[in-house]
Amino acid sequence: PVRVRFCPSPTGSPHVGLARTALFNWAFARHHGGTFVFRIEDTDAARDSQESYDTLLEVMRWLGFDWDEGPEVGGPFGPYRQSERYDLYADVAARLLEAGRAYRCYCSAEELEERNEKARSEGRAPGYDGHCRTLTEEQVAAYEAEGRRPVVRFRMPEQAITFDDLVRGEITFQPENVPDYVLVRGNGHPLYTLVNPVDDALMEITHVLRGEDLLSSTPRQIALYDALAEIGVGTGVTPRFGHLPYVMGQGNKKLSKRDPEANLLGYRDRGFLPEGLLNYLALLGWAIAEDRDIFSMTEMVEAFTIERVNPNPARFDLKKAEAINATHLRALPVEDLTERMVPYLQGAGVLGSEVGEDQRALLTAAAPLVQERMTTLAEAVDMLGFLFVDETGFTRDPADAAKLLDENGRSVVKAAHEALAALPTWTTEAIDEALRTALVEEMGLKPRNAFGPVRVAVTGRRISPPLFESLELLGRDRSLGRLSSAQD
Ligand code: GLU
Repeated sequence: PVRVRFCPSPTGSPHVGLARTALFNWAFARHHGGTFVFRIEDTDAARDSQESYDTLLEVMRWLGFDWDEGPEVGGPFGPYRQSERYDLYADVAARLLEAGRAYRCYCSAEELEERNEKARSEGRAPGYDGHCRTLTEEQVAAYEAEGRRPVVRFRMPEQAITFDDLVRGEITFQPENVPDYVLVRGNGHPLYTLVNPVDDALMEITHVLRGEDLLSSTPRQIALYDALAEIGVGTGVTPRFGHLPYVMGQGNKKLSKRDPEANLLGYRDRGFLPEGLLNYLALLGWAIAEDRDIFSMTEMVEAFTIERVNPNPARFDLKKAEAINATHLRALPVEDLTERMVPYLQGAGVLGSEVGEDQRALLTAAAPLVQERMTTLAEAVDMLGFLFVDETGFTRDPADAAKLLDENGRSVVKAAHEALAALPTWTTEAIDEALRTALVEEMGLKPRNAFGPVRVAVTGRRISPPLFESLELLGRDRSLGRLSSAQD
């Protein structure tokens, strides 16, 4: 059975790279009918925060991921927060020491740096030189007497390590490039190097899909896996590893967590649809087919194989992400689109916390007018806000008003007001005909010059949903009121 894990550290704000990793693991698990484990790697008290943890869960839920084991859902291999598993790690570290697969290392940071410096100056690769691998009892006693507190260091095997990366094929690391490394700090605190593979072993993870930046830790982890098997931790089966390509941002640099377009909350706040963002993230290293950009998560799950993951760096392109999101927006049923716009309109104060039936009906009627024009849901605020405010709350964009409601514009608005005030029925067709007759035919204006001032007068902006429909939805009284206040 396939068991994969998504195991972020709760530091900072969750970013695009994280979601891409979650997505590929999730799609892989679902494709194979396997288990998607969500684990929190919070063993770095200086950097981890509860706020980050909460945001992480919030974003995972917003994106629509479901996890079979992990925080809030539990599971047979819990707890799933590493900060709750310290006893376990201490036990494993003690057993690795006992079995001779790890050793106590007394070298101080200064001594290590000095020797690394020397190695560099002599043209050798820096890295741990094995100094404490074979200490005598007397040497240990002397260090202890000095009050040194040893780290626990893993004893790397002295032969090359080769593995078959699921994305990149066969990769070999030579022993001189993978020195012995620290598992537990001098103060007893276990490190990522220990806890991540220990939990992968205990949680019976079969496939590790993660970013290419972690490739260099893979030989160390594979070696540790052997040692864990020897001391009976886990099932003894080493997982398969697959390293997902880098994501490049602007200027051909790796997209960094600190780049604004990397921040996942930003996408939610702007009103990306989760399915739109996920569709885009799927393309960062994977393709459902050549020349096909748009697909649903159901389709992705059905088609997802690691063989189709491309090892070459992927380019992050915000414009493309927006275009894909817009396509998903256009495909939504109107009722669904309406529901999804509501929180954004509420967040901006356009709608109150209780949405009345009239308002909901108005929004449902307005949704088709903006559906084709929107890139993100938050745009509904500017596009539709004018429909939901009464005359005291209504404002016009000052720049648009200055430009289009000049003397000329005001005379157009006056004529529009007169034509519309005389209308017996308030329908899009009647409004359309009345305005065309009065402004285009009788005043001889070009449609642009005729309707621009009217648009700013009633919607407050130069850019709005289609004018005649907007007027119909706004209603006779508010429309006429705005047409007359625009003449002041
Ligand atoms: N907690 C690690 C990270 O966020 C997980 C790395 C891994 O997938 O092995 O980088």
